[in-house]
Amino acid sequence: MSLHLENGASRVAPVVRQAVADGLLGEDRPLAGFVDVQGVRDSVAGLHEAFGQVPEVLHTFAAKACALVPVLRLLADAGMGCEVASPGELRLALDAGFEPARIVLDSPAKTRQEIREALALGVALNADNLAELERVDALRPAECASVVGLRVNPQVGSGAIGAMSTATEHSKFGVALRDPGARARVVEAFARRPWLTRLHAHVGSQGCPLPLIAEGVAALHHLAEEINAHVGGRQITSLDLGGGLPVNFTDDTVTPTYADYVAALTAAEPALLDGRYRLVTEFGRSLLAKNGFLAARVEYVKDAGGRRIALTHAGGQVATRTVFMPGAWPLRVSAHGPDGSPKRTPLLPQDVAGPLCFAGDVVAHERPLPELAEGDLVVLHDTGAYYFSAPWAYNSLPRPGVYGYLQRDDRVTFATVRRAQTVREISMESGLAQADALLSGFTAPSLP
Ligand SMILES: *Cc1c(COP(=O)(O)O)cnc(C)c1O
Repeated sequence: MSLHLENGASRVAPVVRQAVADGLLGEDRPLAGFVDVQGVRDSVAGLHEAFGQVPEVLHTFAAKACALVPVLRLLADAGMGCEVASPGELRLALDAGFEPARIVLDSPAKTRQEIREALALGVALNADNLAELERVDALRPAECASVVGLRVNPQVGSGAIGAMSTATEHSKFGVALRDPGARARVVEAFARRPWLTRLHAHVGSQGCPLPLIAEGVAALHHLAEEINAHVGGRQITSLDLGGGLPVNFTDDTVTPTYADYVAALTAAEPALLDGRYRLVTEFGRSLLAKNGFLAARVEYVKDAGGRRIALTHAGGQVATRTVFMPGAWPLRVSAHGPDGSPKRTPLLPQDVAGPLCFAGDVVAHERPLPELAEGDLVVLHDTGAYYFSAPWAYNSLPRPGVYGYLQRDDRVTFATVRRAQTVREISMESGLAQADALLSGFTAPSLP
C-alpha cells in the first residue's frame, strides 16, 4: 500500500499548533491523542442519514473502538446507542448515560453474573451460542425488558485481514450456521423460546469488502424469514447487523461511505430495509478512526545501517496493531516542526519508531518524510478508533492524555477527555498497595 505525502499534515496543523501553544504537547508532554468533536457529530449524522428511509433503526457505537466516557457521552448526545462486550464496557456505557434499552451486550464469554445483570437492567443481549441460551433460560426473570437475540456466523468467508474476519469457517463467534445440522438447531432454539426475538451477525471488520459483509447480512435476513415461517408468526422482530465498515487509511477521503454500505445491503437483499424488521447497527472504527489523531514528539534521530530512524514517543503502546502487523495496519504519518507547522523540507526515507524496548516498535518503515529532527512532532493519522483509546501497558508507559477539540472561526479550543496517566498511578495499578506481599505472611488474599 502506498502512503505518500499529501498526508493530511495541513489539515491537522492548526490543531497541533494550538495544542503546542496551550502546553498539551511539548518536551514534558511528548504524546497526546486528539478527537475532532464536530467530526464525530458529522459522522454520526452521516450514518443516520444513510439509513434515513428505514423506519426503525438503533445505531449503536461499538464501545471498544473508543472506550472513553466523554466520547461515549458525546455519541449518546448525538443519538447513538452503545454496543458493549464486557462488564467494564457496560459500566462505561452506563456512566456515559446511555439508557439500558439502547445498550447491546455482545461478549462471547458472558458469565452467569453478567447475564443476570444485563437482564435485570433491561440491556439487550445477544447470546453467542446455544449453551449460553440455556443459561438465559435459567436466569431470565419473569418480567424482563431485555431484547434477547442469538449471534450466528454466516460463514461467508474472510476479508484481507484474517484476524479481523469474524465470519470464517472456524470463527469463534456465534453459531456456525453452515455446519451440519446447525441451521435446524437454531430454528428449533427459536421455536422453543418465544422471547427470543433477534438475530445477530457481525461479519467482520477492517479488510472485509462490502459485498462480503452484505452477503452475511442477507444470510441473516433469510434465516429470520425461515424461522418466522417455521413458527408461523413474526417472532423475530429485529436484526442486529453488526458493524465492520472498513476505513480508508491512505488519505483523507471517507470511503466506503455509509451510503455505499446501505446500497450494498439493498443490492444483496432488497427486503432488508423495508421496515418489516427493526434494525440495529454496531459501527466502531468507521465512526471514530478519521475523527482522531495522535501527535508525538521526536526525542532523537539516529542512523543505523544507512537508515535514518526517528525515535518518537508514539509506538506500540498506542499503535499496537500497526507495530505487530505493519502490512495490515499501515498509518499515514506527517512531519511537523516543534510549533506544529507542517515541515516542507525535501523527503528522506525514515523509520518512525516508538519508545518501547522491543525491536518491532516501528510505526512506519522507510517512509519518505521531510527530514525529522529532535523536537519535531509526528502525527499518526486516522487513529481515533482503537489506537490511543486502547493503549497497551508494555514497558509501563503511561496512557497518554486525550483531548477533544472544536475548530470555530479559525480558533481551536480543547477539552480534556482523559488526563495523561501519572507514574504514581502506574505504580498503584501495579500492586503498590501490596508492595510487601511477597515478603511477609501469606494469609488468604482479600478479594474485592
Ligand atoms: C468490534 C465489533 C464491532 C465494531 O466493529 P468495527 O469494525 O469497529 O465497526 C461491532 N460488533 C461486534 C460484535 C464487534 O465485536
